[in-house]
Amino acid sequence: MDWYDAHKRDLPWRTESPRDPYKVWVSEIMLQQTRVEAVKAYYTNWMEHFPDIPSLAAAEEDEVVRQWQGLGYYSRARNLHTAVREIMETYGGRVPETREEIRKLKGIGDYTAGAILSMAYGKRETAVDGNVLRVFARIYNIEENILSAKVKKEITELVKARQDAERPGDFNEALMDLGATVCIPGQPRCEACPLSTVCKAKAAGKESSIPLRVTKKEVPVEPVTVFVVRTGEFYLLHCRPTKGLLAGMWEFPNCVGEGGQGKTALTAELAAIGVRVEEVPGSVKQIRHVFSHKIWQMTVYKVSAEKDAGADSRLPSGWRWVPVTELADYNLAGPHNKILSLL
Ligand code: SF4
Repeated sequence: MDWYDAHKRDLPWRTESPRDPYKVWVSEIMLQQTRVEAVKAYYTNWMEHFPDIPSLAAAEEDEVVRQWQGLGYYSRARNLHTAVREIMETYGGRVPETREEIRKLKGIGDYTAGAILSMAYGKRETAVDGNVLRVFARIYNIEENILSAKVKKEITELVKARQDAERPGDFNEALMDLGATVCIPGQPRCEACPLSTVCKAKAAGKESSIPLRVTKKEVPVEPVTVFVVRTGEFYLLHCRPTKGLLAGMWEFPNCVGEGGQGKTALTAELAAIGVRVEEVPGSVKQIRHVFSHKIWQMTVYKVSAEKDAGADSRLPSGWRWVPVTELADYNLAGPHNKILSLL
């Protein structure tokens, strides 16, 4: 706290004492995806147009969005607008004072709720964001993934236990400032840190390798075109190769690709095995199937085909006309079972 009193950043939303919950809220929402330096001018301009909850609640949405222009992520402005209107209707124009009620307002998450309650209302509530996670992971030498719910919970408990009871809001802001200016990502500035003598990561020489952040791998989305080919009482099925994804299982004819391209490719593929198809209008369905390593975004078309007496014998190996009554006997691959349930 001594360090904060001597070094705190001079920011336009910190000038009043006590702090106005609406102003804390606006600044925190603006800061969510925008740098502090960029937010300063937007914040000042916003307060000139909407100095309080009633003025924002009374504004037209077009005007609200116009004043947000340049900050991006416009849903933040719209949510703010919706929430202040709810505050006018439900709470008589005053930001509620409990976490439970604040969290019900549109666009307010745990962090923002904690910031408002501690900074404006002096409540002993934590506001744990990426900065705080990083600082605490270093102080306590926590080498686990800080993005996991378990570690976040542990750190929140540690922050709660350490929080200054007299000045909980300043304590939260002190952590934010320390994280933003000293205990920065990458190589922290430990020589300027008030906690360098107690910091466990520094003692272990691990200050630049902590925190560990493991994000879930991005799973690619693969578009797939599927034809459910029906002729009279038969469906056309294909057996997948005996190796690889969904090995040896049955499926409706399909190919990788989407839209006109997918349809043309699959039509040609079927023509090559002697099956001429025609799309049944208005029968398109979208199905998503998630594997561990990719997602199939399937566009499913019902198509009709001609099947003459010799059609079975002309099909190459791995293809079969299956009577509707026997479909259940075939081991359909999971994604194609989903399709079956739509037929
Ligand atoms: S000593 Fe270094 S790593 Fe530890 S809290 Fe301070 S700046 Fe962060």
